[in-house]
Amino acid sequence: MLAADFLHLEEGAGLVNRHADIFHLDIMDGVFVPNISYGFPVVDAISAVAEKPMDAHLMIVHPERYVERFADSGVSMLSFHLDAAEKPSEVLSIIRGRGVKAGLAINPDIPVGKLYPYLDSCDFVLLMSVFAGFGGQKFIEESYGRISTLKAEIDRRGLSCPIEVDGGVSRHNARALVSAGAGILVSGSAVFRAENPAAEIDFLRG
Ligand code: ZN
Repeated sequence: MLAADFLHLEEGAGLVNRHADIFHLDIMDGVFVPNISYGFPVVDAISAVAEKPMDAHLMIVHPERYVERFADSGVSMLSFHLDAAEKPSEVLSIIRGRGVKAGLAINPDIPVGKLYPYLDSCDFVLLMSVFAGFGGQKFIEESYGRISTLKAEIDRRGLSCPIEVDGGVSRHNARALVSAGAGILVSGSAVFRAENPAAEIDFLRG
């Protein structure tokens, strides 16, 4: 939703309700990442009209402080960055304790192996295919190898832990990402800047 027109948020929400599967909410605090996105007034406004599950991606320090508040906002999925939490396992467990799916996210410069100790405690993992902090960045090609390496480890352990890929996802890489092992694709700019956003989502879901 970061790429939506905030003066016409209801239109963006309607688009997701009609064509997509999940509302992806990018939460930036100006500390963990240099940018600031939006906070609870916007999340709650979307929640009021959301007919699809909401997925909040926290790019903030001290994610544990905000789990309760996001759970109260009605999110179904909540992810935070591995390097933003002192005790990632505890945060994952707090999230799950609220009946919310817990996800761990990493930027492109963190080896996927850093996620392995936590895979059993995650309901999904989020691989950034651009550096967290801004919408509209160019997809990093090395992401394919990272996805397939991580997917192989998840499959080897027999886990059901979908890989969410976030950053620069478009019609040019969506098929290849799914082939590499992505289970959830997050697309912002490619959809909202398309001439026909609804058709763009339909194409991506193909
Ligand atoms: Zn995101």
